[in-house]
Amino acid sequence: MNHKKIIIAIDGYSSSGKSTMARRLASEIGYRYIDSGAMYRAVTLFAMRHGMIGADHTVDTARLAGALADITIDFLPCGATQHTLLNGEDVEAEIRSMEVSENVSPIAAVPEVRHALTGQQRRMGSERGIVMDGRDIGTTVFPDAELKIFVTASAETRARRRYDELCAKGTPAPYDEVLENVRNRDHIDETRAESPLRKAADAIVLDNSHMTPAEQDSWMMEQYRKTVG
Ligand code: C5P
Repeated sequence: MNHKKIIIAIDGYSSSGKSTMARRLASEIGYRYIDSGAMYRAVTLFAMRHGMIGADHTVDTARLAGALADITIDFLPCGATQHTLLNGEDVEAEIRSMEVSENVSPIAAVPEVRHALTGQQRRMGSERGIVMDGRDIGTTVFPDAELKIFVTASAETRARRRYDELCAKGTPAPYDEVLENVRNRDHIDETRAESPLRKAADAIVLDNSHMTPAEQDSWMMEQYRKTVG
């Protein structure tokens, strides 16, 4: 059956596994997957490279706001995944580093950054048929998304996943540091003034602390099927 194309918004805490779930669902149903966190990470890398972030993570907001027009972010499909391009340069590996993770939440709290990226995200979804994951997709970017999921898991579970991921990539970091980063980002993301991390009133909550990837995939498919009828 040919279903009407919808928007699927997957929000939740750092390292909750939402990107993997979102990507796999998109590939299963033939939708485009958009990782909005990668866009905030790319802007962060740009700001780091241009000396706009101090050692204490304070952001030179005025300079960054003025430079936003010079930043172009694209996604390059690459097998089952995609790579993030910053002004045409493949920065996929660099934006996943601990250094970027430590600076991204202060950058994502800058209203001008949020406005610019929200506009681009809305344009990407203008024809629907997308799965987008992030922090404010169901609340701010697409409040009219037909299916909204809010993913959560304990901070320790999420830090363990992120720690394993960094090790697998050959860029290990101490577990305590990873846990602290996860907690810090949760805090900044939840308490910022501009579109903070919140569950949308009509989002379905999924705590995947004790679920296998296969269980998460079938749960997602079930929600999709229920939504499109
Ligand atoms: O999803 P990921 O952990 O890669 O996102 C990195 C950071 O980008 C988050 O901690 C958050 O500060 C920011 N973000 C956001 N809004 C989004 C997506 C990500 O503020 N929609």
